Amino acid sequence: MDLSVVIPAFNEEENLQPLLAELRSVLAGMGKTYEIIVVDDGSTDGTFTVLRRLKKDEKALAAIRHRKNFGQTAALATGFSHAQGNLVVVIDADMQNDPRDIPRLIEKLSEGYDVVSGWRYQRKDPLLKILVSRLANGFRRLLTAEKIHDSGCSLKVYKKECLENLPLYGETHRFIPLLLAWKGFKVGELKVNHRPRKSGKTKYGIVRLLKGFLDLITVKFWVQYSTRPMHLFGSMGLLSFFLGLFLGIYLAAMKLLYGIPLANRPLLLLSILLIVLGVQLFALGLLADILIKMYFHNEGDNQRIEIII
Ligand code: UDP
Ligand code: MG
Repeated sequence: MDLSVVIPAFNEEENLQPLLAELRSVLAGMGKTYEIIVVDDGSTDGTFTVLRRLKKDEKALAAIRHRKNFGQTAALATGFSHAQGNLVVVIDADMQNDPRDIPRLIEKLSEGYDVVSGWRYQRKDPLLKILVSRLANGFRRLLTAEKIHDSGCSLKVYKKECLENLPLYGETHRFIPLLLAWKGFKVGELKVNHRPRKSGKTKYGIVRLLKGFLDLITVKFWVQYSTRPMHLFGSMGLLSFFLGLFLGIYLAAMKLLYGIPLANRPLLLLSILLIVLGVQLFALGLLADILIKMYFHNEGDNQRIEIII
């Protein structure tokens, strides 16, 4: 199998038939073997009924239904674990992405990328949403070493090996390029067409977009410290410990040299607090490090290898 197209769909009954028609005409012209995997993420409308009907004249279609709505990240994870193709394309079910961009994305892979992400440079969404998304993308680029413009664009093409052992939980699908860059995969981007949503409703209001900021912090922590928590907790602990220690020495010196009494000074409490906190943070870091070494020392060892000759 050359190509798997993975489509997460939550309440998209009106969009699936026209999307599949568009997809089919693009895929037929590419001369590749393909499958189309639609993951119905617990829709409450007729999405799965439509899929049953479409399946009758589309042998390449596989429809998977979640028991309930688990979210777009979970839908992608399900799609990925069923994908057989050497390349995996993700596209939204709502017709906002344009299937005609797929061949260009695949072509771009040959420039040496492992994943090529779409960039909705002329995005057709409400202005406020575009602004929040710009802000979030800006923060990500500031905080992390991964610099593509539009990490949240669903339309992407991946080499199969990118998707093994990818930690997909919560709403982390927006950070897949970041996670992949962290694992040493090469991430590229390409300007793609974007269209307004004609049928169905968006699932992401402003509140959910804001939650993306929090996810960014989680992912940033994960990427940077998950294999070495001691670096974070240990340095915070040492800082706190020595601050407290110096305060204590200063107070003791004041007492010994000038006879300034210690008992009524708030600084003494702060000094003790900082020392205790420092020891605890240090111990926490040590513990986290030991746990990680015990449980995860073998994880992904083979994934680091690009080539053996
Ligand atoms: N989606 C999903 N589960 C969810 C929310 C969304 O599978 O809980 C799908 C949805 O059907 C669509 C894609 O994820 O195909 C992107 O969602 P949407 O178009 O609402 O996001 P937007 O384009 O407005 O950011
Ligand atoms: Mg959409």
